[in-house]
Amino acid sequence: MDTEELLKRSAELISEAGRILFLTSAGMSADSNIPTFRDKDGYWRNFPPFKEKGLEAQDLASPWAFRNELPHAWAFYEWRRRNAHENQPHEGYHILNRWIAEFAQEGFIHTTNTDGFHLLSGCNPDSVKEVHGSMWRLQCLDACCYEFWDDTTVPLCELNHDTMMASDYPLCPHCGSIARPHILMFGDGEYVGHSEQDRNFKRFLQFPIDLAILVGSSGMVPTNDYIALQLKQSGTQLININPDPSTNSIASAELFLPLKSLEAFQTLDNLIG
Ligand SMILES: [Zn+2]
Repeated sequence: MDTEELLKRSAELISEAGRILFLTSAGMSADSNIPTFRDKDGYWRNFPPFKEKGLEAQDLASPWAFRNELPHAWAFYEWRRRNAHENQPHEGYHILNRWIAEFAQEGFIHTTNTDGFHLLSGCNPDSVKEVHGSMWRLQCLDACCYEFWDDTTVPLCELNHDTMMASDYPLCPHCGSIARPHILMFGDGEYVGHSEQDRNFKRFLQFPIDLAILVGSSGMVPTNDYIALQLKQSGTQLININPDPSTNSIASAELFLPLKSLEAFQTLDNLIG
């Protein structure tokens, strides 16, 4: 099938889908100007002091960094909070929500993104799992308890852009220790997780899923690719949306749409009419 036929077939499946699962990753928010880890040069252009020190994203996004490089670690997240705050969910998020409302018997969003854009776009909070957490929630750095809390304040910390050092950190309301993002970081044994979202996703997985749509997974953190592969093997139809065909290597979707997320959602939505 050429791309036009693939799009037509995909549009048919979406309009007929009973239970539909969206698996969204970095490429979904890239169209809302959220930079991705994959584009390393692009990403680090915003953080010269980190580049000079040889600190990679994996180093900074870790509990280790919050204990040993606290001003840089918080600066990294403070910058991302401000960046996300300056942007907004693109039309694709709203199209996705509308498809769930109009066509699906039931829909669910499993996202690896931490920008909170699905919730911000007005999706059903009981139908989303932010598997890597959210930059809009905080937890205790010392994990003194299993609690996390919302904090959408922008700015949250003081941020010196020249040194990329933050100060005036948020604190844990329970023990007074430093608070950290409620995000699953690298080498992170202290992320307290989100049991309610976990339960909702487990419940959704209890019944057969007709259609899964994988969006913008880089394959660098292939959480969603493996979920897609497993579902495909148990009979779920699978659509993979990604401008880079090499990213289809894990899920191997027959319905691979070589498009950016926003363009794909708009094109499919026009085809559905
Ligand atoms: Zn605490």
